[in-house]
Amino acid sequence: MRIFDPHIHMTSRTTDDYQAMYDAGVRALVEPAFWLGQPRTSVGSFTDYFDSLVGWEPFRAGQFGIRHHCAVALNPKEANDPRCLPVLDVLPRYLAKDGVVAVGEVGYDSMTPAEDEALAAQLALAIEHELPVLVHTPHRDKAAGTRRTLAVLRESGIAPERVLIDHLNEVTAGMVADTGCWLGFSIYPDTKMDEDRMVRLLRRYGTARMLVNSAADWGRSDPLKTARTGLAMLAAGFDKSDVDTVLWQNPVAFYGQSGRLDLSGLDDLNGHQGAGYGASYLGNSVLRGTRNG
Ligand SMILES: [Zn+2]
Repeated sequence: MRIFDPHIHMTSRTTDDYQAMYDAGVRALVEPAFWLGQPRTSVGSFTDYFDSLVGWEPFRAGQFGIRHHCAVALNPKEANDPRCLPVLDVLPRYLAKDGVVAVGEVGYDSMTPAEDEALAAQLALAIEHELPVLVHTPHRDKAAGTRRTLAVLRESGIAPERVLIDHLNEVTAGMVADTGCWLGFSIYPDTKMDEDRMVRLLRRYGTARMLVNSAADWGRSDPLKTARTGLAMLAAGFDKSDVDTVLWQNPVAFYGQSGRLDLSGLDDLNGHQGAGYGASYLGNSVLRGTRNG
């Protein structure tokens, strides 16, 4: 099983997670920008974070045989904090970088006027930079939030095939299915979607334009939920090519629209013992001392 996790926040995960993901078949991922778990107080906090998303984190993933790309944006939650808004002026600089394959995650958290403005501004940036966009739907008021999201997307003029609408469930999937947008589902350990519910949705809507992610971050989440969904699909009678469509080909097709997805040489990567393991990035490596040191 080869896996592309289209939405995972590796900054908050450990080297053990990278190893376990590699062992489960994860070979590529996209890390969208989001908040830090606590409020940022200045734009400098964004730029250091974005620099890490295009620098250290791809290096760290590469040490474990996984290709890392990212999406950058002002996230929905922080769109409400005036201290964060200046990041909209630095985004264009990052949207020009090679490892950045989308604008994201954008969307609604509490559906405030400030979130309206940030969303519209960033959809315009996505159009201008010819990048796909990853849209978060709110965890509260999901149906209303998804409806409003679809209205704003139509108004923006962005092509639906360049939009991935994420964190969908049984209530909202049907609202997105006929729009031409891609459908994203975050599989969580306790709440929201689980892998069996996901299998039922795949039965109902088919595998086209369907993406599954772990959305793992600092909270209770599981970076192997993509693999577990693949196994649940097989157990439910889907065949290997269906699993490959959902877990690999769909994310590759969606983010491939950026023209920046680099999946070359992946077969040469041998996980944590691969060539280059122990190398350094700006003087730092993933190693901590030696066995006999
Ligand atoms: Zn996220």
